[in-house]
Amino acid sequence: MGAGPAALCIASELGKKGLKVSGLTSDSPDKPWTNTYGIWAEELESLNMDSVLGSRWENTVSFFGDGVGKDGSEPISHEFDYGLFDQSVFQKDLLNKCSGITWNIETAEDIRYNDSITEVVCSSGKKFHARVVIDASGHRSPFIQRPMDGPVAQQAAYGVVGRFSSPPVDKDQFVLMDFRPDHLSKKELEEPPSFLYAMDFGQGVYFVEETSLACAPPVPWSKLKERLLLRLSHRGIAIEEIIHEEHCLFPMNLPLPFLNQPLLGFGGSASMVHPASGYMVGALLRRAPALADELSKAISIKPNLDSAKLAKRGWRVLWSRELVIRHRLYQFGLKRLMSFDEALLRSFFASFFKLPKKDWSGFLANTLDLPKLIFVMVRLYYISPLKIKLGMIGLLKKPRNI
Ligand SMILES: Cc1cc2nc3c(=O)[nH]c(=O)nc-3n(C[C@H](O)[C@H](O)[C@H](O)COP(=O)(O)OP(=O)(O)OC[C@H]3O[C@@H](n4cnc5c(N)ncnc54)[C@H](O)[C@@H]3O)c2cc1C
Repeated sequence: MGAGPAALCIASELGKKGLKVSGLTSDSPDKPWTNTYGIWAEELESLNMDSVLGSRWENTVSFFGDGVGKDGSEPISHEFDYGLFDQSVFQKDLLNKCSGITWNIETAEDIRYNDSITEVVCSSGKKFHARVVIDASGHRSPFIQRPMDGPVAQQAAYGVVGRFSSPPVDKDQFVLMDFRPDHLSKKELEEPPSFLYAMDFGQGVYFVEETSLACAPPVPWSKLKERLLLRLSHRGIAIEEIIHEEHCLFPMNLPLPFLNQPLLGFGGSASMVHPASGYMVGALLRRAPALADELSKAISIKPNLDSAKLAKRGWRVLWSRELVIRHRLYQFGLKRLMSFDEALLRSFFASFFKLPKKDWSGFLANTLDLPKLIFVMVRLYYISPLKIKLGMIGLLKKPRNI
C-alpha cells in the first residue's frame, strides 16, 4: 500500500525475489513526489546508487555561533559530501525496478484478516486479497497499531527556493545547520530553537529553510517563516523571487508499532524515520532487501503461513532486537536534546561534530552497530562541556514541550 519512497523500495526488492506483488495506492505511482529528499552522498555510494543524486555539494558546513573565528561566526566544515535526490530520476529508477508489479489506483479504507489472508477494502468498494499486506502509506496510516505514549515530537520546516537580493550562502555551499542566534531577541531565544538549512543551486537560485528539529507541539510554519525572514533581513537579504515554497511536517519519535500485528509496515508507517536526525530514505534502501528476503523465504518454504505469521516474521527482521535498542537510544538522545535551550543546543552540536567523521555520520545514518553506537554516545559525553554532560544525564530542567 502506497507509492512513496518506502513502497517503491520494498516493492522493487520483493519483485526481485520473484514474488507476486500488487501495488495499491491513492495516486498514480508515477505522480511526481513533492518532498525534496536529501542524504549524505556516501550512503548512496555504499549502495552504488549515487547516480540518482540531482545535486551534490563538497563544501558542507554548519554554524553554531560558538565563538570560532573573529566574529564568532566561522563555519565548521563537515568535509563530507551531501546531496539532494533528483526526485524524478530516483522515482523512475525505483519504478523501473518494480516493472513486474501491477498497480491499482485505490484508497484503502479498511483492512480485515481471516484465517490465511488479508483483505483490503477500498473506498470504491473494491476488495483486494493478499497473503500479506505491507502498509507503506506513510506516518499517518490509521491501520498500523502502536502504543500511544503521549505527545509526538515533530520536525517542522518552512523553506523557499528562490532568488535573493544577495547570496544567503556562499557559492557552491551547503549549510546543514546555521544555528547563529544573533538576529533573535532575548524573548525569542527562549522559544523552541530553529536553524537554517540552506544550499546554493547555482545560477542565482538558493534554497533556504528554517527548521525546528523536533518539538511537541510542532513549531507553526507561520513562526518559522517569520524567523526565516528575520534571519535573512538581519543579514541584509531580501527574497526577490519565490520559485517554490516547502512546508515540512513529520513525526520524529513516533512510537514503534506493535511487532505482533498481522499487518506489516515499512517506511513512515513503521516509524523508520531516524528519531535524532529525521532522515529515512537511506534506511529504506538499506533495510528493504533483508525484509524482502525474509518474506520470500517464508512464503516459498512455508506455503501455509498465514498473514499474521508472515507479518510477524517480517516485523522481526525490520525491527530486530538490536535495531529496537538502537532506536530507543536515539529516542533517549532526542528527548534529552528537547530539554536543551538554544545556547546548550548549539554547544551540543558543536561537540557532536567534533566526533570523528565516521562516528557522527554513522550516528546520523544509523549504520553503527549497537556496541559502536554506545561507544560513540559515551565518547560524545566525554568530549562535551560540563553543562551538556549534565543535560545528557537529565540533570537540567524538565524536557521542553515533550
Ligand atoms: C517535506 C518533507 C521533507 C523530508 N525530507 C527528507 C529528507 O531530506 N531525507 C529523508 O531521508 N527523509 C525526509 N523526510 C522524511 C521521510 O523520508 C518522508 O516523510 C517520506 O516521504 C516518507 O516516505 P513513505 O513512503 O513512508 O510515505 P509517503 O511519502 O508519505 O508516501 C505515502 C504513500 O501512500 C499513499 N497512501 C496514503 N494513504 C493511502 C491509502 N489509504 N490507500 C492507498 N494509498 C495510500 C500515498 O498516496 C503515498 O503514495 C521528509 C519528509 C517531509 C514531509
